[in-house]
Amino acid sequence: CHSDECRKMSTTERTFIAVKPDGVQRGLVGEIIARFEKRGYKLIALKLVSPTKDHLETHYEDLKGKPFFPSLISYMLSGPIAAMVWEGLDAVKTGRAMLGATNPLASAIGTIRGDYAIQTGRNICHGSDSVESANKEISHWFTENELNKYNNPLQSLIYE
Ligand code: UDP
Ligand code: MG
Repeated sequence: CHSDECRKMSTTERTFIAVKPDGVQRGLVGEIIARFEKRGYKLIALKLVSPTKDHLETHYEDLKGKPFFPSLISYMLSGPIAAMVWEGLDAVKTGRAMLGATNPLASAIGTIRGDYAIQTGRNICHGSDSVESANKEISHWFTENELNKYNNPLQSLIYE
């Protein structure tokens, strides 16, 4: 697709990225934000939150029934979470690539998990795994008002 309309649509794909409690407490929020900023993604929403157990169980509802589910929920409840929305071309897939594999031991060096984490149960960050789950997660964590609308003149330097 090469029309202006399609180019605009493809560059407005959004993903939900979160720094988990271990990442926040280890002082990695700035580092993670910086990587998305420097890559060229546009920051749409950002907040530090301490969600309820219920909120987190809904966020991870696809994993209900997994043996690690209770420990995952208590891990996610162990401190505040830095929740954000990033926008740009292929934001979901590239966001996942920037985070690295779920198991940090399998994450490539140069990815966030590959550089800053060792174990799956302390893998410091979350990223949506599809456009569909991104949309679901964004509306679960943010109100429409919290999704900022602004023009970023840098876009013409980042996209051809
Ligand atoms: N997780 C875990 N043990 C496992 C698999 C997953 O503790 O065996 C945790 C880990 O924090 C992971 C989260 O559950 O990030 C969600 O799992 P998912 O498979 O969705 O991985 P992700 O999408 O975060 O890479
Ligand atoms: Mg997942």
